[in-house]
Amino acid sequence: MLHTIDWHGRAAAAVLPNRPFIDGAYVDSLSGETFDCVYPGDGRVLTQVASCNDADVDRAVASARRAFEAGSWSRMAPAERRRILLRFSELILANREELALLETLNVGKPIANAYNGDVVSAASCIAWYAEAIDKVYGEVAATGPDMTTMVVREPLGVVAAVVPWNYPMSMAAWKLGPALATGNSVILKPAEQSPFTALKFGELAIEAGMPPGVLNVVPGLGHIAGRALGLHMDVDCVGFTGSTEVGKYFMQYSGQSNIKRIGLELGGKSPQVVLADCDDLDAAAAGIAAGIFANTGQVCNAGSRLIVDASIRDALLEKIAAQAANYQPGDPLDTATRMGSVVSEEQMSRVLGYIDAGRAEGASALIGGARVRTETGGFFIEPTVFEGVRNDMTIAREEIFGPVLSAITVNGFDEAMAVANDTIYGLSGAVWTGSVKNAHRAAKAIRAGVVWVNCFDRGSMAVPFGGFKQSGFGRDKSLHAMDKYTDLKAMWFAH
Ligand code: NAD
Repeated sequence: MLHTIDWHGRAAAAVLPNRPFIDGAYVDSLSGETFDCVYPGDGRVLTQVASCNDADVDRAVASARRAFEAGSWSRMAPAERRRILLRFSELILANREELALLETLNVGKPIANAYNGDVVSAASCIAWYAEAIDKVYGEVAATGPDMTTMVVREPLGVVAAVVPWNYPMSMAAWKLGPALATGNSVILKPAEQSPFTALKFGELAIEAGMPPGVLNVVPGLGHIAGRALGLHMDVDCVGFTGSTEVGKYFMQYSGQSNIKRIGLELGGKSPQVVLADCDDLDAAAAGIAAGIFANTGQVCNAGSRLIVDASIRDALLEKIAAQAANYQPGDPLDTATRMGSVVSEEQMSRVLGYIDAGRAEGASALIGGARVRTETGGFFIEPTVFEGVRNDMTIAREEIFGPVLSAITVNGFDEAMAVANDTIYGLSGAVWTGSVKNAHRAAKAIRAGVVWVNCFDRGSMAVPFGGFKQSGFGRDKSLHAMDKYTDLKAMWFAH
């Protein structure tokens, strides 16, 4: 279906959700304020979206609390929640064309990626937690013959999910799946750049049979709606994905309010280490190019620092440059496009600012380095590879969140590991090597929540994802994610 649809025609006729979804229905915001939603593929304003304020957030939290206390979801038998969540997942897939289009209009990612990737991965995530929830058990502790002691997990109550714009549906699903499956009520706050699919999720949850108030969606600005959720005395937990800077705010909000639980999936500056003994430079080059140019480099675990042994540097860089040709920016609504726009004019300026800093600090652009497709009015940047980068340069230390690779040359294993770990981040890392011994040594040495060996960005719902150091704490995906949205309760029964 993907290739037979007139996506431009669909875009022109699209219905764009732009009001908060609270207590089971779209409602007018109490704030009356709005913000512009811009299509980054051509820079035009698509619609105005409600900018929720403290009063709107209060209303959403009250609805979520009422639903939680009523028990219509929180105390529902897990097998029943499973049934409704599976239906929710099916409805996401049934609305695949509309959701893919809304995602592309919001963030400028290629329609083929939104259709084949984002929608499917969000639906699979919800289904995975649906399937899990009636298959997890509590514990009976070994407290002796005069006692029966059970250890069970209970939902926290009202969870706020505050998410970014790079994978709006997937990032929302990574929170909604475990938080809803475990019986919580959720308030989803999408990034201001990408509210459409989140709002549509609210609608689909009701269609699936979820009781009103269990999933509310409040579009709004970070420093208003996001802050109001962070500081709210009746929000029990925030599941946050976004920048390290804003993650630090959420820790402050928690301390300033009710010590709500916080899970933080933050930024990264992930090393792609290619050792001298790498025996497949073609595979490494393809993995490295995909790892920085996919999703226009707007990926938390993007492999943005290439750490390459001097002995193979020239051969590898040549192959990466050849791979980059596959990622020339194109029309996001064209099904053949592999790299779309960056998300906004602001983000484009930020990335171009880093490119300028790279040049000013003495690195040189082997390929790329400029805005392109300017005539479209959209925000497109070429795939860019810098060589001659030192690890103390701005482009090696700060998260650029764009299609910019910084290549650093090293000599030997020990220097490679030292440079890989010389960062405030610890989300992920990769090593490319033909040596089993070095594969194991590197996997242990790299201080990060995920390490890939001879591959990059592989993922599965069965495997936890999250960071060390200033990349945050707590894990998304896998059964471990359910720990974030539940508390342990010990119950002692004397005989
Ligand atoms: P961001 O931190 O600017 O915004 C994320 C969310 O926080 C948005 O909903 C935003 O509205 C809200 N927000 C912004 N300022 C706020 C404030 N003062 N108070 C409360 N809420 C606020 O991040 P972004 O630009 O949307 O996304 C890019 C960042 O997300 C990158 O740093 C990237 O690495 C990170 N990210 C991490 C992961 C992961 O799993 N670790 C995944 C995707 C993205």
